[in-house]
Amino acid sequence: MATLEDPLRLVIGDKAAKRLDSALELQTVGDLLRHYPRRYETRGELTDLASLHEGEYVTVQAEIAKVTSRPMRNRRGSIFQATVTDGHGQLVLTFFSRGRQDWRERQLAPGLHGLFSGQVSTFRGRRQLAHPDYELLGAGDATARAAEYAAEIIPVYPAAKEITSWQVADSVRIALDVLDIEDTVPRAIRDRHQLCGLADALRGIHRPVDRGDLRRASRRLKWDEAFGLQVVLAQRRIAATAYSATRRPRVRGGLLDAFDESLPFELTVGQQLAGATIADELALDHPMHRLLQGEVGSGKTVIAVRAMLQVVDGGGQAALLAPTEVLAQQHFRSITEQLGPLAQAGQLGGADRATRVALLTGSQGAAARRRALLEAASGTAGIVIGTHALLEEAVQFADLGLVVIDEQHRFGVEQRDALRDKAGEGRPHLLVMTATPIPRTVAMTVFGDLEVSTLTELPAGRSPIRTHVVPAAEKPRYLQRAWQRLREEAAQGRQCYVVCPRIGDGPAGDGRGGDWAEEAGDRDQADGAARPPVAVLDLAAELEAGPLAGLRLAVLHGRLPPDEKDAAMLAFAAGSVDVLVTTTVVEVGVDVPNATAMVVLDADRFGVSQLHQLRGRVGRGRHEGVCLLVTEAEAGGKSRERLDAVAATLDGFTLSRLDLEQRREGDVLGAAQAGRRSSLRLLTLLADEKLIGLARREATELVAADPALACEPALAAAVRVLLDRERADYLEKA
Ligand code: ADP
Ligand code: MG
Repeated sequence: MATLEDPLRLVIGDKAAKRLDSALELQTVGDLLRHYPRRYETRGELTDLASLHEGEYVTVQAEIAKVTSRPMRNRRGSIFQATVTDGHGQLVLTFFSRGRQDWRERQLAPGLHGLFSGQVSTFRGRRQLAHPDYELLGAGDATARAAEYAAEIIPVYPAAKEITSWQVADSVRIALDVLDIEDTVPRAIRDRHQLCGLADALRGIHRPVDRGDLRRASRRLKWDEAFGLQVVLAQRRIAATAYSATRRPRVRGGLLDAFDESLPFELTVGQQLAGATIADELALDHPMHRLLQGEVGSGKTVIAVRAMLQVVDGGGQAALLAPTEVLAQQHFRSITEQLGPLAQAGQLGGADRATRVALLTGSQGAAARRRALLEAASGTAGIVIGTHALLEEAVQFADLGLVVIDEQHRFGVEQRDALRDKAGEGRPHLLVMTATPIPRTVAMTVFGDLEVSTLTELPAGRSPIRTHVVPAAEKPRYLQRAWQRLREEAAQGRQCYVVCPRIGDGPAGDGRGGDWAEEAGDRDQADGAARPPVAVLDLAAELEAGPLAGLRLAVLHGRLPPDEKDAAMLAFAAGSVDVLVTTTVVEVGVDVPNATAMVVLDADRFGVSQLHQLRGRVGRGRHEGVCLLVTEAEAGGKSRERLDAVAATLDGFTLSRLDLEQRREGDVLGAAQAGRRSSLRLLTLLADEKLIGLARREATELVAADPALACEPALAAAVRVLLDRERADYLEKA
């Protein structure tokens, strides 16, 4: 009898276990049984051969149409070829051998059906599998498999190089036969939602008797995924309420009041509402735990600044954590500027109750760093802004009352906690801000331990951003027109971004650039593709010599030394650079209101939400913004459709749903959420919204009654596995 935690070797033997480990990284019975079939073949229904893609490892069901065998021309040995068909298309199976292959000829007789597994290649214009593995169906063999294949539905596992679908199926069969497990979802909940037992569900997903069986199994297993995750999140919420926090109620006549009076604009209704909620929560004696999500440009920063000032008025300090150095610098500059005399404590001209703003980044000089550390530790700095450098042990606060995390996508739960642990006893309040709006289910899953405030409107007086797709391949003249447009903007004293997916060959370049990791653009770049994506360094040189000659250009990318990065950003913000040629380092948060135009090269290489975020950099001031998405992707293709969608709407929620539909969920959840991604197999965040909501309710109720899951040992074990995986992913990245 085996449990899900047992190592596979005990159940299927050393050899098979090793193979599953090396091919698919499956180590326990649970790993194997949660390696679900990718799809199901219906017995007798042949695989559509036209759907196969070059280079893919596939398993197809097909009928043998004809076979040929001939000696090789230049060498000893023979070539045996079987042509298989789905009734329309054909696929050639090729086998080479040193000797004759009469036995294969007898085995692969025309008319037989079989499963064939291998990598798709093309030879002389015909699709083929070279040396496929195969399994003939119902060819009179009396093994257990024959019985399985007599069933209506044949599971097909994701194929890999070293292992075939039916080898996986063999191991699964053995594991299912000895499986003895407790259920992870409590009986009462199963009854309420008509869920079958876990063991039945695992049998049903791997060896379904019919489609109904499969549906029941998959619904139950989706529940497992949603429920496990929501239990973890509910536990985290409960744990958070157990902490105490210092109350920071609003103080009349303090820095916040002075700041509000100095604001050059009215807060939007959304900003006022979110601000009031936050102000109330800061006044409570347990930590606030809030996610502020909002449309690009909706004005999240000012809400954060107001919250920080309320805490400073209450005698505490606030830390603002930014994902990039560029963004930390920008926050530092703009907040210092907005506060004016309010941030000049101890300086000539500083206001009476003034505080100080400190900046801590990884790249600053020793003297600046020492000063910032001192200001944080002594409490002189009410506001401390920084990058990951804020998380280091050396950083101490006198009285940390609030942690603000900007553009949360890039930080994991552990990092949040690292910063919060600096608060001594009790915990600081926490405000997390997302870069772009996210669908409700993503919020519930990724940020499920936080309460949510949402900003949907943009401040009044914003001019809309117009977005156009520039089909560079079909209409090369349009690209010339795009550069012309930048010249016109510059002539009117306005500024532009040119965004490329790649940095390019610096002095240390290797032809493809060693910089691919920084950018999102390389994701689907196949080896040997026609040309590498456009690079910042190449394009800047070209523009300077040609279409943008005479304009003031600067480059910005992640490989620049930090002081040069900062200098470039400063020069651009100050208006002494007309065109900033850059990678996606400007993607999040950068705010230069005089920037009105953006050209994105190879725009098809970016995700939908990423493009939305990028174009949010322009049109932040009085002047209308324009964003030109340059692409060589074919009209009507999937990539072009995505770009057309970005051009067609300014609604970030619509686009983030689209993003989720089109891309792998892991990409959307972000690298910081890798653990959560790897636990989602059947669940899709969009389609299963209702199920996730139900699971969340049940999980919340269960955890409230039994926080440690003392009455649910199997569930507790499953939750431990989930947490371990999340932790392992985190360590791997660190
Ligand atoms: P995001 O939500 O994308 O982080 P920011 O906080 O950077 O947006 O705000 C974008 C710009 O809008 C900033 O220049 C900010 O000063 C300005 N802003 C914020 N709130 C308002 C408002 N209520 N009215 C006018 N401008 C505003
Ligand atoms: Mg922002």
